[in-house]
Amino acid sequence: MTIVPRLAAQDLEHVARRYAVAVSPTLLSLMDPADPRDPIARQFLPSLAELNTLPQEIADPIGDGAHNPVPGIVHRHPGRVLFKAVAACPVYCRFCFRRESIGPGKDNALAPAAFEAALAYIAAHPEIREVILTGGDPFILAPRRMAEISGRLAAIPHVKIVRWHTRVPVTDPGRVTDELVAALHGAGATAWVAVHANHAREFGPDAARAIARLADGGIPLVSQSVLLKGVNDDVVSLAALMRAFVEHRIKPYYLHHPDLAPGTSHFRTAIAEGLALMAALRRTLSGLEMPAYMLDIPGGFGKVPLESDHLEMSENGIRVRDMTGAWHDYPEPDAPALIALDGRLKAGHGE
Ligand SMILES: *Cc1c(COP(=O)(O)O)cnc(C)c1O
Ligand code: SF4
Repeated sequence: MTIVPRLAAQDLEHVARRYAVAVSPTLLSLMDPADPRDPIARQFLPSLAELNTLPQEIADPIGDGAHNPVPGIVHRHPGRVLFKAVAACPVYCRFCFRRESIGPGKDNALAPAAFEAALAYIAAHPEIREVILTGGDPFILAPRRMAEISGRLAAIPHVKIVRWHTRVPVTDPGRVTDELVAALHGAGATAWVAVHANHAREFGPDAARAIARLADGGIPLVSQSVLLKGVNDDVVSLAALMRAFVEHRIKPYYLHHPDLAPGTSHFRTAIAEGLALMAALRRTLSGLEMPAYMLDIPGGFGKVPLESDHLEMSENGIRVRDMTGAWHDYPEPDAPALIALDGRLKAGHGE
């Protein structure tokens, strides 16, 4: 663990007793630890606010436990699974949604028997097209281990896509070596990488090199960010972040509303604020630069896009709302049938 200058040693000890703490030299070089409003410091330096847990905050905020057929696998949607191969990260984000289940002291990597059982589960379910490596941060694994995972997954005929979700390209970019990039390619499947970053300032020179190595290595890149109060909850910061992704060849994918993880209320904005920010972004950014604003519904109900207020259906037809807020009728002769379909979908009979 690196020294954390902003907190008195005693305070740090209180937080660290409860949640994992680690910061990398790369991140330290990008932050001003003495500035409480520094967007990098706020994400990684522990704060006493973390010891304030609200009643609605829960250990498993997105309900992974409800869809956990074997250790390491979360199977909520038929065509894709999460594969948590490791429960550690090189750094620990203070807002982490899995903060109760990850850390250096936890059972880090899946034990060999559990690893084989997870692969057997995927092999036994031909509907699984896509395997999403998450954790923890799977890029903390040794490239040799990553190559084994890629190869074993790609050898399963129905697995077409292996997607790695990682924060390492910005938090610990030195890990992204040519050997690591090679380890992502398994014969018979396509590798994708989702890069997690929350502020344009995370893209320092080392991160830029790491991301270029992935892109030059033939890996398609998408982004993943969390809307965080005091870090990126303003149009200027979010626009700069999305533009930085695109400049680094990363297609903006998801902007997550923060989950109800314990001791993270100081990071959460209201959903209405998030929607207003998205509307402002839509007036500013190109289509290429736009992410989708997502909420993982507490209790294991999955992710939904929050920005769907551009469409309204009624007996009289469909209305669409443009970027200025004006409503327009849309000629739709089958409106009653669509309303019935919408009702069925909302009642949960759609799938
Ligand atoms: C987020 C998540 C996925 C991936 O969702 P996409 O919308 O495909 O990015 C898959 N399974 C679970 C359980 C998830 O929480
Ligand atoms: S990298 Fe991801 S899993 Fe690791 S601490 Fe940050 S949010 Fe949590």
